[in-house]
Amino acid sequence: MAKVRILPERVANQIAAGEVIERPAAVVKELVENSLDAGATRVVVEFAHAGRSLIRVEDNGFGMSPQDARTALERHATSKIADAADLNRLVTFGFRGEALPSIASVSRLTLQTREAGQDSGTEIAVNAGRVLHEKACGRPLGTRVDVEHLFEPVPARRKFLKTDRTESAHIVNCVRLYALACPAVSFALYEEGREVFRSPECSSLSDRVAEIFGRQAAEDLLPIDFAEPGMRLAGLIGRPGLNRATRHDMVAFINSRPVESRTLNGALIESYRESIPQGRYPVAFVFLECGPDEIDVNVHPAKREVRFRKEALVRGFVIRAVLKSLREWSGRAAAEGRAAAAPVILGDPGPLPAPFHALADEPAQPEPLSQPSAAPSGPVPSGESREFTPAWRYLGTAHGGYTLFETSQGLVLLDRRAAHERVWYERLKRQFETGGVPVQRLLLPVSIELNPVASAVLTDNVGFLVAHGMEISEFGRNFFRIEALPAWMEPGDAEAFLRDLVGALREGQMPRSDIDLARDELARLAAAKAVRLPPATGEAEALALLRDLFATSSPISSPAGRPTYVEFNHSELARRFQK
Ligand code: ADP
Ligand code: MG
Repeated sequence: MAKVRILPERVANQIAAGEVIERPAAVVKELVENSLDAGATRVVVEFAHAGRSLIRVEDNGFGMSPQDARTALERHATSKIADAADLNRLVTFGFRGEALPSIASVSRLTLQTREAGQDSGTEIAVNAGRVLHEKACGRPLGTRVDVEHLFEPVPARRKFLKTDRTESAHIVNCVRLYALACPAVSFALYEEGREVFRSPECSSLSDRVAEIFGRQAAEDLLPIDFAEPGMRLAGLIGRPGLNRATRHDMVAFINSRPVESRTLNGALIESYRESIPQGRYPVAFVFLECGPDEIDVNVHPAKREVRFRKEALVRGFVIRAVLKSLREWSGRAAAEGRAAAAPVILGDPGPLPAPFHALADEPAQPEPLSQPSAAPSGPVPSGESREFTPAWRYLGTAHGGYTLFETSQGLVLLDRRAAHERVWYERLKRQFETGGVPVQRLLLPVSIELNPVASAVLTDNVGFLVAHGMEISEFGRNFFRIEALPAWMEPGDAEAFLRDLVGALREGQMPRSDIDLARDELARLAAAKAVRLPPATGEAEALALLRDLFATSSPISSPAGRPTYVEFNHSELARRFQK
């Protein structure tokens, strides 16, 4: 008997579905794309039980004839391309003809559709890839697809699904993404009969952003519209300074398709290099338009990733576009004397001052700079000595961020920010471990709106936050109120901190399975972002910082691993001065 067999179509579809349909939101994505490809001006999405029991997408697009409806459910049936060459001139979302048969193979799918000129519509029902019935039905112009019992025919897939909250959030995010991509189409989304959001046809992206993310968010963004022959970048980008801990608020569309593009994201981050701190991400909703033959969308099964044929060209173009917009804003802001109102940038105190910079950067010296080692010429003679007797003489403070000391070995330059982070990190870890976080109740609670995925993450982790000094209540879908904070946090920092925290939770940096690790991360984040660097007031303050630093378990480095001080010993100085 032959061992190599062609798989039955139904099985092949179920396997293909594994790639394209990884979660309920992927079904929503494919169906919404089909509606938009069909020229719909109104798209209504409904779902129940995180999309497991029902996903319904209804549109007023051009519909299908009975024959087309039948073919559409077959593998590789598409009206959008005829041959491989057409892949170079794609203007539609879909092209593989895989979505409908894949979804139908892992659910119970009912398609109802009617095209112009037909008296009645067509209904086709399929269960786990087998056609149940086909009949005429009453139907307004357009198409409705019901997907029920998703993944029931393939129980293994259900195991990979996250909590209902998370899966629902992905669905909501997905619909919002397409609503942003097509502001002129009206969108409505319902979960178990309740309206999640609804946006009428909008005349601009900025109206759509305001509808979806709120007026405040829209006001922090600058319009951008830049064109060179063959390419155009338009949309909204964050003002200089506006930044996020994760890249979730960088949303890019290429020829109206929401995509992940390394080139584009990289160029955006690069453009903001001087206006937001390192390691932070800009906010951007941008649309890149270019000839369809400039891009390859056929690299990812779910079409989420796009490659450019001429990457360097696109990169340069995007950077020019964004920088122009940012510079124009900065110019205007300066002119209006508004520069001071720009958001405060948290983060590193900046590079070393020039002369020391040159010193520190010099590579391959015969006698390298002595970095702090495990046994530094520290101010504390031995570990037992509780009485602090500084062997380092305070000389002064430079640029607010560095303190200079004279030591028996030479000179020490202390990075105050790094030192404070170390001190606070250990202080916070102790507080977290003993449960003794001092709490301040806010007279005016801070309100914050999160996107659906972020709010799902927050809700899932509220217990952890409460146990560590924050009190947060939900007062509407995706709206939260911060009622109480740890005493050491400035209320003004609470929102930014919470957003960072949610970002870190979302990236899995605070695993629930390991409370110690989660606390470490929380302390690290708080020490770096939420605890203010007190002003350098002189010798007493500098020595107090030094004492606290050397009482920690690792005075030589910040919790993020940066050195807290750099030492220039006598021989190094002598060599430098050619003595
Ligand atoms: P693709 O979108 O890649 O062509 P699909 O499996 O998603 O593949 O859809 C197959 C075909 O069914 C499409 O090419 C289109 O002709 C038709 N179709 C699917 N959904 C709709 C819809 N909502 N309105 C009109 N036609 C549709
Ligand atoms: Mg499709």
